[in-house]
Amino acid sequence: MEKCDVAIIGGGIAGLSAGKFLAERGVSFILLEEHREFFKKACGEGIIRNTVGYEFHDLYGSKRGIEREIWETIIHTKYGELSIEMPVLMTSKREVEAELARQAAAQGEIRMGERVEKIVDGVLLPQEIKPKIIIGADGCFSLVRRYMGERPVRCGIAAEGYATEVDMDPDRCHVVLKNEVVRYGYAWYFPKREVWNIGIGCSKKRTFRETFSRFREKNKGEGWRGAPVPIDKPGRSYRKNAILVGDAAAHVVANVGEGIMPSMIGAYIAAEVIERLARKDFREVDLSPYERGWKNTFGKYLRRTYYTSRIFYDVIKSEYVRHKLLAKMCRDTTEYYRKILKR
Ligand SMILES: Cc1cc2nc3c(=O)[nH]c(=O)nc-3n(C[C@H](O)[C@H](O)[C@H](O)COP(=O)(O)OP(=O)(O)OC[C@H]3O[C@@H](n4cnc5c(N)ncnc54)[C@H](O)[C@@H]3O)c2cc1C
Repeated sequence: MEKCDVAIIGGGIAGLSAGKFLAERGVSFILLEEHREFFKKACGEGIIRNTVGYEFHDLYGSKRGIEREIWETIIHTKYGELSIEMPVLMTSKREVEAELARQAAAQGEIRMGERVEKIVDGVLLPQEIKPKIIIGADGCFSLVRRYMGERPVRCGIAAEGYATEVDMDPDRCHVVLKNEVVRYGYAWYFPKREVWNIGIGCSKKRTFRETFSRFREKNKGEGWRGAPVPIDKPGRSYRKNAILVGDAAAHVVANVGEGIMPSMIGAYIAAEVIERLARKDFREVDLSPYERGWKNTFGKYLRRTYYTSRIFYDVIKSEYVRHKLLAKMCRDTTEYYRKILKR
């Protein structure tokens, strides 16, 4: 039996960020990722640079994989165009994940191609690793979440691909919120450095297939792939010696499906708490400060975005009312970012 202080299950943004922040605090870990390569899961690759006061650049500490910054997003509805000013970083997620792994490897061991099949009495199988703390960064279908006795995360579904020809302003991000394009969701057109990341997200799985084939017919793209995206409110995130981060914890801005920054912020808070336990040689493992930490930081915010998404897609049927509501949200968000980023 192999023993270690911390085992991280999952090498997406959440797990790699947890590894990086633990490494910076001198805490050793083993990270197990089932795939042999990074960025195996679909993503729009856009990062809202500043989320609940945390700056991506401060957390990430590198420029690798950041392709460009875009200040304006245009939302296209049946009733016109709305503008929202907010800093979005367009990235190569594959490179961002590789960079996080590079930083994490300073103190930890990253084992690719290692799938954890089961956890029995705190032992990871078939690896036979017994960690003092388990970090569940294993996404929407989290094994660690099941081990903790929590119900599965409720998910919608999203798919993305790359396009070179898009008839839209390439200096802005674009979101299309029209029933004729996606019911119960939206389409995005995000300009990267050389190509566009385009896709759709939909809160109802049953309508997804038909919507997606229509979208694919209309948009010339390649490399299409899909994945679940949490549309849930975060709940219990720790039990005995295990915690959840990222999608496994439903740490996602549910109304827009943005999970990269919440994953990183959650991982940062987790590392802070684990470092304190490590200093006492893990004699007492109380992980409740982790849950208090993220609840104080973004708990209310994430819950609000969850309820907004439900109201937006399930309750309001009129596209006109949605447009009006969105116009107000765009004004408020623009004002917020202008104020905090002193633009
Ligand atoms: C199509 C799409 C577009 C999106 N666009 C954006 C966007 O533009 N901006 C944004 O902020 N968010 C976006 N999101 C959401 C964002 O991608 C996620 O919220 C974020 O990546 C969560 O990261 P994670 O590490 O928690 O989960 P994941 O990225 O799912 O990583 C989990 C990892 O765990 C591994 N794993 C799972 N089980 C095991 C196991 N048993 N053993 C070993 N390894 C295991 C998986 O292989 C995976 O690598 C999008 C999501 C989708 C689906």
